[in-house]
Amino acid sequence: MKLLSLTEWGNPILARPAKNVSVAFLKTVRFKNLAKNMIYTMRRTHGVGLAANQVGVALKIAVIETRPTPTRPKLARRGPIIVINPKIIKYSKNQIGDWEGCLSFPGVRGRVPRAKEITVTYQNEKGQKITKKATGLWARIFQHEIDHLNGIGYAERMKDMKTLVTIDEFKKRYVRIS
Ligand code: ZN
Repeated sequence: MKLLSLTEWGNPILARPAKNVSVAFLKTVRFKNLAKNMIYTMRRTHGVGLAANQVGVALKIAVIETRPTPTRPKLARRGPIIVINPKIIKYSKNQIGDWEGCLSFPGVRGRVPRAKEITVTYQNEKGQKITKKATGLWARIFQHEIDHLNGIGYAERMKDMKTLVTIDEFKKRYVRIS
């Protein structure tokens, strides 16, 4: 297992849409190692999601998992899942604002409005097509990661830039989200 190095905001790979992945690629050792190492890297860095362009690979692959972390000790365990070529096909009109952080945007948090519920389609690591509804935090993570794969960072989704705060100020001033 290898800890992959993270690309950070300002790197053009994060500002461009990643490319679709073929089913044939899913059978390669390169894909299997990439997926394994992305999950390992997400866990080691206490992330709840990681997109391939965040580790320098411009392909539409993301991993998602929630588990208790130092800043979110009460998170329920769910996943990990490997998400290939994801697309959100439906957004609820209802939006919720909540705090987000990003492994590619270290040291800050921001409040981001996101659809409360989404319907997402993607392929799993076997190439099977999956269509799912997601709500709450799970829906938020999907929206954050799929934005990455489309070249969009969470700061671009913020409505109030005054809520872009450092982690230290965040810890002092705001109640933790979960
Ligand atoms: Zn991110």
